[in-house]
Order: sequence, then C-alpha cells, then structure tokens
Amino acid sequence: MEDTVPRRTKIVATLGPSTAGEAAVRALLEAGTDAVRLNFSHGSQSEHSRAVRLVRRLAQEMERPVAIIQDLQGPKIRVASSVGEARLLVEGAEATLTTRAGVSDKSAIPVSYPPLPREVSPGDRIILGDGELELTVLSVSGPDVLTRVTRGGPLKGNQGLYLPDVALSAPPLTEKDIADLKFGLSLGLDYVALSFVRNADDVRLLKRAMSDGGRRLPVIAKLERREAIDHLDGIIAAADGVMVARGDLGLGFPLEEVPLLQKEIIRRANQAGILVITATQMLESMVESPRPTRAEVSDVANAILDGTDAVMLSGETAIGRYPAQTVAMMGRIAVQAETADALPAHTELSRLGHAHAMGRAACTLAQEIAADAIIVFTRSGYSARLVSKERPRVPVFALTPSRQVYNQLALSWGVVPILLPFPGSAEEMIDAADTSLTARRLLRPRDTVVVARSSPIRARGWTNFLKIHRLRGEH
Ligand code: PEP
Repeated sequence: MEDTVPRRTKIVATLGPSTAGEAAVRALLEAGTDAVRLNFSHGSQSEHSRAVRLVRRLAQEMERPVAIIQDLQGPKIRVASSVGEARLLVEGAEATLTTRAGVSDKSAIPVSYPPLPREVSPGDRIILGDGELELTVLSVSGPDVLTRVTRGGPLKGNQGLYLPDVALSAPPLTEKDIADLKFGLSLGLDYVALSFVRNADDVRLLKRAMSDGGRRLPVIAKLERREAIDHLDGIIAAADGVMVARGDLGLGFPLEEVPLLQKEIIRRANQAGILVITATQMLESMVESPRPTRAEVSDVANAILDGTDAVMLSGETAIGRYPAQTVAMMGRIAVQAETADALPAHTELSRLGHAHAMGRAACTLAQEIAADAIIVFTRSGYSARLVSKERPRVPVFALTPSRQVYNQLALSWGVVPILLPFPGSAEEMIDAADTSLTARRLLRPRDTVVVARSSPIRARGWTNFLKIHRLRGEH
C-alpha cells in the first residue's frame, strides 16, 4: 500500500459565482473536492447544466469520481424582493406581514407564503435572515399578520423567514422543485437533497416523484426543522442519507443545542448505516480570509470525531474569495483528525442483517490479518457503503462497473471508487482488480487484501463471500 493513507472523510463543496469558471472548478477538484452541491435556491437551470458538464468533463480528464448533489430549494418562505433597500425594524415597534399582492408602500411587509395567516397564532416567533431579526405574532386579520419586533435590525428584500413554532402545511416539493427535479434527473446527477423535511412521508414523496420520472436517486434529507428532529427515526429509515443543516437548525433550536443535536444525528445515521453530511459555517471566515479561525478548525475536526462521513462547504466555495484553499485546508484538518485514537471505530450498526454482518466481518478480518486494504465488488454501491460504515482503518477500494455508482461512492467515508467492467469469472475479476490497483499504485505487488463480493460472482445480490487475497508479484 502507498505510504500516505488517503483522506477518508469526504468533502462537499457548493458551487456558486466564485466557482463558475473552468479554472476555479479545476482548482476545487484538484484541492480534493469529492462531491459538489448545486444549490437550486440560487442560479438558473442553464447555469447548473453548464456546471454539471464542466464538473463531468474535468473529473473524466482527471480520471476520478465526483458526486454531484442536487439540492432542491423546498418551501422557503421569503420577504418579497420588492422590499428593496434595507429598512429598519425597531425593537418594540409593531410590524405587519401581509400575503396581499401588490403592496408597494411601507405599511406592510409582503411575504411569499399565502397560507401564513392561517397557520400562525399569537405568540409564535418569526425569525428573519440568519436570526438578525425576530418578530412575535400579536394577531391575525385576513391576509395580515400583526407582529411585535422582538429583535430589531435592518429588513432586506428576499430575506428568508423561519417559523420555529409552526407546523407548516407547505408540501416539501414546490412546483419549482418538481421542475428542478425533472431537470436534474435529465442531467444524470448522483444524489438529491431535500430541504425542510418534516417527516418520513416527505422523503417518500420525493422518492415517488422520482419513480414517476423513471429514475431513482439516493435522497439526502436535510435536517433543519424542529419537526424533522421529532421524526428523526422515521426520516433515517426512509432516506439514504441525512444532512446536519446547521444553518436553519440553528434558527429552529437555541444555538447552544446544535452541537449535541449534531452528535445525536451522526450517531443515529451511522447506527442505521446511512450517509451523514455535516454542513454550514464550517470554515466560514475563509469566505473573506485565507486562514480560518482556530474555532472553525476545531469544529471540522470535531465533526469528524463525531463520525460524520462528509463535511460540507457552502458560502466558502460558492461566494468566497479562497474556494480551493478552503477545500485544501479542510482536507488537512481531516487527515489530521483521522489519526486520532478517538476516531469512532465500528459504528454499532443496529439490526445487524446479513449485509451488515458481512461488512463488519470484512473489517474484522482485515484488522486481524493486518491487511493493506479491503476490496469490494459492488454493483449498487450498497456493500461498499456498509463496509465504510464499519470505519475500517485501511482503504476500501470499491470496484464497480457502473459510472453512477462510481460517482456516488465518492461521498462514502474511506471509499476509493474504481470503475471496472466485471469480466466473466471470479478469478478474472480479482485479476483485473489486482492489475488496476497496482497500476495506479494504490496497492503494491504482494500486498494482502480482503476481498468482499457476492457469490456466484455475477449475481445481483449482497456480499456473501469473503476471501483473503495476496496480490501477484511484479507484473
Ligand atoms: C443549512 O441550513 O444549514 C443548509 C445547509 O441549508 P441551505 O444552505 O441550503 O440553506
């Protein structure tokens, strides 16, 4: 095996104006980005489509996998953009929100969510922006919601509204989301992230919408509402992955509760064997500065020690001044954090089924015989993901004939995806893997590996076969 162990925690970078051009995306990938997020709250479909073509072309040139995540906007409530220039809301004063169309004077603040007056009650809080402003509902009259300003400050057009006390009726897929989803499916993306998930039904709704469109991508449920935390078990059972979306989560919960929520979400996602991404403000100061704060470096390291599969950058790479440097910094923090004895070992998967048990057995075997790597032959990626969840100390080389699985596995902790057609027999497959891994200098002749695969070899089934394999001598 190579002397330098590859980084195992994966890095997701959000694309945006700072990373729209070829040079910037190339630098982002070269710095170690494993997955890019297309944030459909911003940008046009044609911009996203250009980004997809660019990422795919560069990844192919670099002969490496990159996962592309479509992040759907969801039912985000906003102040109308017509509010325009910042206007000051004074603490203690009254302010009226309205769903009436065409309000152009300053008597009321127009908002984009028609059911608002029906769904709020006196005493409910309404948080604006990133928490800079807070209103408390006093009364409702027709389309108007009268509030008291409990935290004052400047109000801006297009600012987001967050209602922590209200169970909103808005479905998680708006008309825009459905159109974006269709568009994303036509581009052949790798994951779909669903914003403002409330419960497992929301996840199932998205899955049904995809089935109707004829393709089914793994769903990452963004956990950002209180209701999502109340229904965490159901969401984890229904989704393929979750995101600790600390931005909105920090509006729904007191900020000081977010660190423990993060730990709990990561633990439960790992227990269930699904993907978990930790997101938002991880290296926020690098939007403006070439160096992060000490606190941010600790935050990234601690998310890794909590057991996250991936860490995500948002503004840092979308609008920041140092996108590639931020990814490189994150990579260095990860590599260092991964040397810790405190790094979670196997993740106490609950309900150990056959596939889980085989994943664990592969890792135990690799550890017992001090193997150099685990090789998994995988068609759907499932077996590789389960081996990843056992957090083996050696790299997991996931060999797959599917380009989409190859790209999807870029997001799984510790997994190095390799695209390889599956030839006829088991021996031929191991031979091909042997040649491919040594040619890329990922393994050395005579290294010892644990091979996990299905048997018979061409069956579409879960891993049910483990083999200790010594790579051939010099080719
Ligand atoms: C978040 O709220 O933390 C988050 C990731 O959501 P978005 O960036 O899509 O608003």
